[in-house]
Amino acid sequence: MSRHVTRTPAATRIDDLPIRDELRGKSPYGAPQLDVPVRLNTNENPYPLPEPLVQRIAERVTEAARNLNRYPDRDAVELRTGLAAYLSRTGGHHVTTAQVWAANGSNEVIQQLLQTFGGPGRTALGFEPSYSMHALISRGTGTGWISGARNDDFTIDVDAARAEIAAHRPDVVFICSPNNPTGTAVDAETVLALHDAAQAAKASAAGALVVVDEAYGEFSHRPSLLPLIEGRPNLVVSRTMSKAFGAAGLRLGYLAADPAVVDAVQLVRLPYHLSSVTQATALAALEHTDTLLKYVQQLKAERDRLVTELRAIGCDVVASDANFVQFGRFDDAHVAWQALLDHGVLVRDNGVPGWLRVTAGTPAENDAFLDAVRALFTERSSKENQR
Ligand SMILES: *Cc1c(COP(=O)(O)O)cnc(C)c1O
Repeated sequence: MSRHVTRTPAATRIDDLPIRDELRGKSPYGAPQLDVPVRLNTNENPYPLPEPLVQRIAERVTEAARNLNRYPDRDAVELRTGLAAYLSRTGGHHVTTAQVWAANGSNEVIQQLLQTFGGPGRTALGFEPSYSMHALISRGTGTGWISGARNDDFTIDVDAARAEIAAHRPDVVFICSPNNPTGTAVDAETVLALHDAAQAAKASAAGALVVVDEAYGEFSHRPSLLPLIEGRPNLVVSRTMSKAFGAAGLRLGYLAADPAVVDAVQLVRLPYHLSSVTQATALAALEHTDTLLKYVQQLKAERDRLVTELRAIGCDVVASDANFVQFGRFDDAHVAWQALLDHGVLVRDNGVPGWLRVTAGTPAENDAFLDAVRALFTERSSKENQR
């Protein structure tokens, strides 16, 4: 959990420094982390790692510690082999070690992709509201950001999306499925339509890169979009251990794509970017995949319960394929956010007008959240009756 470092009211401000012009006046990514009993705001997995896995991590890390005088395996071959086996078993498509690349969180995967395929003079397009880091990492890598729209129900309008792609001819297109913060998943036909539009829009034969961000893939009702990488060297699927694996603190993300994409990101990745400790820990987690996926099943059931009960309370709820639910609607989402906080429950205000996002927690946390929403709606209807 993040705590803020306090400084003396200072002297030098960021804008006094010779920073890049496009960073001036911008704010860093930040989910406010407050010390309240029920924290359902960052899409973390509420379950700590099972004790046998904790033990196994200790063993693997001890082994790694004996070699910490040496640099890690720069290509993380054992880990990538393990990840390829996991994807092959669960993603509906056989992937090889050469098709997998890993980094410190899928945020770093995305950063490496933008350093390789975006950058100054190039643009990336995403359909918003979506994961804010796609825009932020674009900015950080000097890539121009184009904000594409979604329908009112947060699905992607394929014809409108095609038109946006044709008009802007982006170098990189992000498709977040299931989408954060709305929980909306896209089908394979949509991805293929947008992929083809992105290739057609670019004058160069090399085309444009399409990144399918499947950070919440394990929670979806739908099969993974992973099989779409076959025969499409410009289509990348990114994944993470932060959500389904309950290992946000580990910082391990990965991608599956044509081996040429993996070769290409080698051009920008820092040498030895993935520490031996990280590799050892992730390998231990992969040994316990079956247990971790059982927690995913529980969370999916809780997610579905949240959807049903929120609707029963009278909320509008966006159908969710992730481990969170977007609910509303509120005249002022921030007022509702504060009211829930006053009831001891922290959810996320992503700035989507009228809507808030709640992460599926443990059954007890979800009950506390639902009680708080019920209280909010009761207060609201009694106020309306007084009018
Ligand atoms: C949480 C999240 C990520 C994961 O980030 P990590 O760096 O792997 O922790 C990536 N994409 C989306 C859409 C997310 O919500």
